[in-house]
Amino acid sequence: MSQLQDNFGRRFHYLRMSVTDVCNFKCTYCLPDGYRPDGKPKFLELNEIENLVGAFSEVGTKKIRITGGEPTLRKDFSDIIRIVADNDNIDTIATTTNGYRLEKHAQEWFDAGLRRINVSVDSLDPRMFYQITGENKFDQVMRGIDAALEAGFERVKINAVLLKDLNDKDLPRFLHWIKNTPIDLRFIELMETGLGRDYFQAHHLAGADIKSRLYAEGWQMDRAAADDGPAQNFSHHDYKGRIGLIMPYEKNFCASCNRLRVSAKGKLHLCLFTESGLDLRDLLQHHEQRAELVERLHGQLAQKKETHFLHDGITGVTKHLASIGG
Ligand code: SAM
Ligand code: SF4
Repeated sequence: MSQLQDNFGRRFHYLRMSVTDVCNFKCTYCLPDGYRPDGKPKFLELNEIENLVGAFSEVGTKKIRITGGEPTLRKDFSDIIRIVADNDNIDTIATTTNGYRLEKHAQEWFDAGLRRINVSVDSLDPRMFYQITGENKFDQVMRGIDAALEAGFERVKINAVLLKDLNDKDLPRFLHWIKNTPIDLRFIELMETGLGRDYFQAHHLAGADIKSRLYAEGWQMDRAAADDGPAQNFSHHDYKGRIGLIMPYEKNFCASCNRLRVSAKGKLHLCLFTESGLDLRDLLQHHEQRAELVERLHGQLAQKKETHFLHDGITGVTKHLASIGG
């Protein structure tokens, strides 16, 4: 079967696969009250993950990011990595983590086949880090980043959501950090979720403002590579690190969309924000269901809308990003 493609000519070679909704942090923009289980959730099991990865790899998926909630809280996290690594069609295995378990496990995950890692660090000031994440773990997370660099990861990226009147003053500190450290920083513009209009209005900082500040300091936008997706990347000859901006409110953000999402309960989400997710789980039980699953994926892609509706304040069913991995 051919590559997944939608009615707008976009091709999807990148899957963000959530493996749990559970998280041990309480980021104020995501899970301010911490993770609250909804009944007795049953997250994807290893055989379901194997069937999912197999089907997606047949329809052109080349990159898989394992996400959550906090994906590394799964006891079988290394087994999940191995399942993805064993699939020859997948070129890139990445994860996004809050870094809580990184120091202890960076080498183990690398040895299992993980090659790229994004660590969320919203502030380089330990007190502000605590204020935003609800966890006093700044030093532990930073030691984790060092461990990842030592373990040999191809890419260590740092995700930070810059928030007005909270960590927005940290920008110079972040820049100072990457002057001599080969880290890719990604600033993610705060997205409005079903959680809180008030929070959004108080703390949303437009990505365009950050972009102007970068230009003013001599940063230049890199030419977009084919698999960049929606990030805009910047570099500076005096800095070893690079910067990426994710600006979901920017015009044309959706035009370069190349990703699909599957939630930890096995629902396909064509967009972070537009629909409630289509159940795939009934077709994840046996290898023999592969052809039917592939057919369902193709059928669903025809439903993908051209853009999200965040500009209109429509956040879909996404209560918070921990439920489908951001
Ligand atoms: N727990 C892991 C972590 O924090 O890296 C992985 C899951 S988390 C949902 C993935 C990314 O989404 C994180 O970098 C987080 O900062 C980002 N995120 C969560 N809620 C967001 C929001 N409302 N707007 C923008 N980014 C958000
Ligand atoms: Fe947890 Fe990540 Fe959400 Fe923070 S952003 S609460 S670490 S899932």
